[in-house]
Amino acid sequence: MSVCNICPRRCLVERKWSVKNSGRVGYCQSGMLPVVSRAALHHWEEPCISGTRGAGTVFFAGCNLSCVYCQNYDISERRKGIEISIQRLRDIYFDLIAQGAHNIDLVTPTHYVHAIFQSLKEPLPVPVVYNTGGYESVHTVAFLKKKIQIWLPDLKYSDSDAAKRYSDAPDYFQRATAAIEQMYRQTGDYELDSHGILKKGLIVRHLILPGQLKNTKGVLDYIADTFDEGQILFSLMRQYTPYGRAEEFPEINRKITDEEYAEAEAYMEELGIVDGYVQQKESAKEAFIPAFDGTGVRETAREI
Ligand code: SF4
Repeated sequence: MSVCNICPRRCLVERKWSVKNSGRVGYCQSGMLPVVSRAALHHWEEPCISGTRGAGTVFFAGCNLSCVYCQNYDISERRKGIEISIQRLRDIYFDLIAQGAHNIDLVTPTHYVHAIFQSLKEPLPVPVVYNTGGYESVHTVAFLKKKIQIWLPDLKYSDSDAAKRYSDAPDYFQRATAAIEQMYRQTGDYELDSHGILKKGLIVRHLILPGQLKNTKGVLDYIADTFDEGQILFSLMRQYTPYGRAEEFPEINRKITDEEYAEAEAYMEELGIVDGYVQQKESAKEAFIPAFDGTGVRETAREI
């Protein structure tokens, strides 16, 4: 790579190879080698991803967004994790597959796209899930065309003021929707196997923020206007818990109410969005945030 334009930040810096080296980094503060915080079976994704045995999640440290309320703040902003080689990353995939993972679920992968591409040079025996905050460039999605079978982007904002205030990305909606449409062009309609496990396709997630129903309705309008039944899955999430720097933003420093969720769910029904998921109230607990303690990374990490 010469200069980094992987994501819409377009930092155009020549990123250093390892965080241990001196050199430059961009907005995501990351070197080129992946830093991984946890690699384990995960049972809290959508049922078609987690299935019965779990998704093989690989949580990457760092992020190209900087959501003030991030539920994974310890790894996204504090970048807690272990730097590993590309070969070790591939070995981790096979460790997870040996444990029974239905897929390999790459969480916040964007800033490590080049390492991920190398790690997937040979195809895996299970689908690869690209689980992203949604702030992606169309050319990066296209670059990954033959590597990714399942796209799992957030669509966090339709409102650019909210995108600016909470994620420092005022062009989020324009970028994320262009990327989502490219993802759909690449995979086509979603397909489940006979056990209800996703083989390929696109799931768009939206996390409702407290007091931001207009933002949520804008996202739902976009989904209803852009996709027909049978094309993609949509996941309406109520698990928001104030975390990270949410205390500094009083209007989002609380969980969402039952009334807010009911209104969003009713609007989704009214628009006829039927392919997808809604979430139980019990999901809004910090206990659902996994331990970012190097599980699955540390014990067999090779020296690099
Ligand atoms: S991946 Fe990181 S360095 Fe590259 S453009 Fe995005 S934020 Fe900047």
